Amino acid sequence: MTDLNPPPLRNDCFALPAGVHWTPVDEALTLLRERLTPVTAVEEAAIGAALGRVLAQDVVARRSNPPQANSAVDGYGLSGALAEGLHVLPLVQGRAAAGVPFDGVVPSGTAIRILTGAALPDGVDTVILEEDVNAQDGQIAFRGPLKQGANARKAGEDVAAGDVALNAGRVLTPADLALLSAVGVCRVKVRKPLQVAVISTGDELVEPGEPAGEGQIYDANRPMLLAMARRFGADIIDMGKIADDRVALRRALDSAAERADVILTSGGASAGDEDHVSALLTDAGAMQRWRIAVKPGRPLALGMWQGTPVFGLPGNPVAAMVCTLMFARPAMWLMAGAGWEDPQGFMLPAAFEKKKKPGRREYLRGRIREGRVEAFKSEGSGRISGLSWAEGLIEIEDGARHIKQGDPVRFIPFSSFGL
Ligand code: AMP
Ligand code: MG
Repeated sequence: MTDLNPPPLRNDCFALPAGVHWTPVDEALTLLRERLTPVTAVEEAAIGAALGRVLAQDVVARRSNPPQANSAVDGYGLSGALAEGLHVLPLVQGRAAAGVPFDGVVPSGTAIRILTGAALPDGVDTVILEEDVNAQDGQIAFRGPLKQGANARKAGEDVAAGDVALNAGRVLTPADLALLSAVGVCRVKVRKPLQVAVISTGDELVEPGEPAGEGQIYDANRPMLLAMARRFGADIIDMGKIADDRVALRRALDSAAERADVILTSGGASAGDEDHVSALLTDAGAMQRWRIAVKPGRPLALGMWQGTPVFGLPGNPVAAMVCTLMFARPAMWLMAGAGWEDPQGFMLPAAFEKKKKPGRREYLRGRIREGRVEAFKSEGSGRISGLSWAEGLIEIEDGARHIKQGDPVRFIPFSSFGL
């Protein structure tokens, strides 16, 4: 099996068109979509080990589903359409059961005992349900009409051999494993998982479990980002937390770039004195500070570090999560070979009121209760409890809006983001 490695990403892949300073969300997403390509190599996996993996090529059905015409019910097999009124048919000796076919012919005008899943014997194209029949003394009696083909499944009616059963880029679900098994496929070409390194930055951070002094806070972003990357199907590389120190951060980025396909950092992404992530990426000459018109979210620092894309996420946990879901997730999905996927949301009545100014798209923490969308009581971007409370994001379009109770709002459940 060849280990097919795609070409590396270009260093200027995050460059914004000249003159663009304030990027609407949709434009930012379009840029990511156009500039990124799959980076993961291809390998083969048994379907038992393929859950959540990304198909590297289309899978063609080796066998039809069902492979042969068979009965959908327990009953009696016979031939053809039967008119209205009483029918009495003699039974043929023997029976057809799942996995134990009847290997004779059922003459026209007779019937045979048949069980669910049994291949239809020669001469049978229709099945009458057991409950609709009186059977006695080698005969059955029932009332028509009975349509030809009733209670029978046709060969290949679900999938025909030679059809594409699943397309390249598909992230395999439990149901997909059933489909692959049914059509006779037991090994598939899949992409190796994307390797995602996560780094937290900030002098104030302490590890969960360590004593925390005054001015210190526990690193909340790293466990969250590592868990999100894992849910996106990536292999995670925990690079720990790095102080606001350029030498240490450079060393961490070097090591992350060597091991990972994508680097997620949080904190230090703005343009302040201690914003070393953006400073280092700028020095490396492949940094773009995207001022995306989104709330919450300060500038998202996008850059290349030795050929590896870096998503410099904001330090505030709420902004870090929203930026990851909105920007890093689709990018990583694409790099993992799964194509571009827009999160699926739906409109539901609001259980809150909000006045929104034009200019930025806004995401509120939301959840559905009794068919209405509730918003978290605070929009503060350090309110981690609200992230935990939420079951999805409420997306409010870029323009001005005054949302009143009962007005339709767009809700995107976390499950739509693969969480
Ligand atoms: P920064 O983007 O580095 O200016 O950080 C913005 C805010 O997010 C500050 O209040 C930081 O203390 C906080 N912050 C940064 N990193 C983390 C983290 N890993 N966990 C929790 N809060 C953080
Ligand atoms: Mg910081």
